Amino acid sequence: MPARAVMPLLSRGTVASSRQTLLASRSCKDRTRSWVTRRSLSSLPNLPLFRALQNHDQSNLAVVHSSSARSFTYGNLVADVLQAKERLVGTDQHGLSGERVAFLAENSYDYVVTLLSILASDAIALPLSPAFPIGELKYIMDNSQAKVLVATEKYAGKAQDLLKAGLEREPVFDVKEKIKVGASNSGSVSLEDLTKTSRGGMMLYTSGTTNRPKGVLIPQSALTAQAASLLEAWRYTPEDRLLHLLPLHHIHGTVNAIVTPILAGSSIEFMFPFNTDAVWKRLAAPFLPSPPTAGANSKITFLTAVPTIYNRLLSSFPTLPSETQEAARKGISPENMRLNISGSAALPTPIKQAWKDLSNGNVLLERYGMTEVGMAISCGLDFADRVDGSVGWPLPSVEARLVDTETNEVIQPGEERDANGREREGEIQLRGPTIFQEYWANAKATNESFGADKDGKGDWFKTGDVATRRVVPDAGKGTTSGEWAQGPMYFIQGRLSVDIIKTGGEKVSALEVERELLSLPQIAEAAVVGLPSEQWGQKVAAIVVLKPDMVNTGRNGKAWGPLDMRRALKDRLASYKMPQEMKVLDGVIPRNAMGKVNKKTLVKEVFGI
Ligand code: AMP
Repeated sequence: MPARAVMPLLSRGTVASSRQTLLASRSCKDRTRSWVTRRSLSSLPNLPLFRALQNHDQSNLAVVHSSSARSFTYGNLVADVLQAKERLVGTDQHGLSGERVAFLAENSYDYVVTLLSILASDAIALPLSPAFPIGELKYIMDNSQAKVLVATEKYAGKAQDLLKAGLEREPVFDVKEKIKVGASNSGSVSLEDLTKTSRGGMMLYTSGTTNRPKGVLIPQSALTAQAASLLEAWRYTPEDRLLHLLPLHHIHGTVNAIVTPILAGSSIEFMFPFNTDAVWKRLAAPFLPSPPTAGANSKITFLTAVPTIYNRLLSSFPTLPSETQEAARKGISPENMRLNISGSAALPTPIKQAWKDLSNGNVLLERYGMTEVGMAISCGLDFADRVDGSVGWPLPSVEARLVDTETNEVIQPGEERDANGREREGEIQLRGPTIFQEYWANAKATNESFGADKDGKGDWFKTGDVATRRVVPDAGKGTTSGEWAQGPMYFIQGRLSVDIIKTGGEKVSALEVERELLSLPQIAEAAVVGLPSEQWGQKVAAIVVLKPDMVNTGRNGKAWGPLDMRRALKDRLASYKMPQEMKVLDGVIPRNAMGKVNKKTLVKEVFGI
């Protein structure tokens, strides 16, 4: 009897205790294994990602676990993905094409194998954050109607708690055993042409500020297009070693730091959760006078992170022993670290500058993206194409336009200023092969987020982010960064819903005011918000954290306060942009795992509005 028919199944609507489900999946595993060994030739779908996997030098390292130095080659990866795929497709006799497969896995080789095996099964990979409370995970499981839940041993307990929460659709549950180092190597692997259109892909849940999180469905074709675009722009190579510090239920940690390096044949070194000392030690390791003999000590060539990570690294640097400092500076200098990227939130110029000074001239490359579109706009590889405050140009295959937030007209090239010479602000709208397909089971939100175009070349995704566009002399010549990095550059002004503050008929970009605040020596952190005002409609308010040694640098040695702030910024900000209120917080401004501030919650907490 074919293996799929004998798999124990917990089909839709089957009510079983989580314990039973677990046991069922364990016995299913054994049978899957025997099925795999009976087959002489195994196959992966003939898709760009798997073609690339098969073509990479199989002895090159694909994944390294930083703390233990356990490492896995591309040969291991191909073999383990195959096995995991066989086991996964065995969980359902009807196949998993287009089904959501949720998984809970630590930042590790097992995560990569699970992700790729789901894609290889033509299913939709749904990474769950192990840090989320059960209630949040239950919402995601119910909303996505996931058919299978895979957990690594580490999260088996959490997964069982989730199963006990009374999910609407009881999933098949599978505990993934830890993969042994080098236990498997690919033998004969063939690529199988798809007989029908792929229904696989990835689904990520947006952070959702006011509404419940939405499931963003990124079809396999968009995932591949996003990775191909980044590969062209940032030129990942098999020689790259990427230090992975990010959570894995976000687009940044998955597409930029797993899917694209895998497509390129680079090595990914996992080091999570983020810890400043550990990162500095790791960056320094290859350059110490006597480098450690054991452990991960090849140089890191590629770092992609969020501004808060760079900020925390910069703050902790002075506390390192001087030998580590010297070696770490070598580690991040341009001749060793090929590329350091910042994104997911605006990069403050002081962080960019301090990183450049520390690293003997390495300039952070800023890019803009979001869950729905992957990366959309990026600065270029040439240092001259990494312009302060700008996120650069639309990436290869991404079509971008700005739609005037006042007039709703498309801002045509050359029309970036109005009749008074002021820069026009427009919503960034995007289209092309990298754009997501839909918000899962939410046709209303999907319809509202796309706008038609008469040109017949497809609908535009309305990002909700506002930008200006400007030609920057000496940048965008497309010489070394690539043809795509040409013309006027984009400057993000913030999210339309929270960052564009309308005060007395003027519009203020919260991001611009934050940038100015952060350039003051007193201010460590800043969030600018709009508060309701009878007189102005909205008024600009700032929430700041002061540097500990700068608290008493106000006039006459008093606490630094709103008056000092206004005095310091009076020549740099037009009066309508000047914060009318300023609240100083102790400690830090609360941020999510990606360093983003939820301004709606912050306003409630700080101003009680
Ligand atoms: P997420 O979907 O969680 O990755 O969040 C995407 C949002 O982060 C975008 O819509 C922007 O508002 C913001 N964002 C991403 N990159 C940048 C950047 N470089 N500068 C400013 N905002 C950014």
